[in-house]
Amino acid sequence: MKPLLLCLALAAWPAVGEQRGESVAPIALYTQFQQDPPPAVLASLQDEVESIMSPIGMHFEWRSLSASRGNEVSAELAVITFKGRCDTAGMASRSINPGALGWTHVSDGIILPFSDVDCDRIRGFIQKELLTLDHVGRVAAFGRAIGRVVAHELYHIFANTQHHGSDGVAKAAYTAQELVADDFQFEQKETLALRAGKVHSLVEHTTGTPPL
Ligand SMILES: [Zn+2]
Repeated sequence: MKPLLLCLALAAWPAVGEQRGESVAPIALYTQFQQDPPPAVLASLQDEVESIMSPIGMHFEWRSLSASRGNEVSAELAVITFKGRCDTAGMASRSINPGALGWTHVSDGIILPFSDVDCDRIRGFIQKELLTLDHVGRVAAFGRAIGRVVAHELYHIFANTQHHGSDGVAKAAYTAQELVADDFQFEQKETLALRAGKVHSLVEHTTGTPPL
């Protein structure tokens, strides 16, 4: 599975460079998990982020924040902290409306490249739908849903906006059905905003250890 995905990414490389008209270097995505996720959930969430973002010309190099020595250099980066447990154990067949599923930090109106994604809230919100699936499908769907929330927060960071779209991944609130649907993408307007998004003032974060 992995080598195939890598080949697909490499095959898409030249077109990506043409679209963005700038460096084709992948964006460093530093992750930290309160509890390590099952590998299948992690793979599904990473696949979903790539599948949403790669048509826009954005590719990511996933790095563990705890393994970072603070000396990697990246032109662009973001740090995602996953709250709670990112597994499918202990679900109940009732819906919970938990509040925000993810959020991105803002300071004095400046969007910072730091987002939090709450696995417990995402699971609670879609657990009724997840319970209708078999184990393999459930794990894949849960990882996909987390990936959609990650993509939403990456939109805020890399389109450099606090605004939301009227539909698609950039909308302000998702339904459970949208989170577990087979396919969910950005609308055209937000795709253009992401393509136009310039590297913003991340320079101070690129050579040191990101703050914890
Ligand atoms: Zn938002």
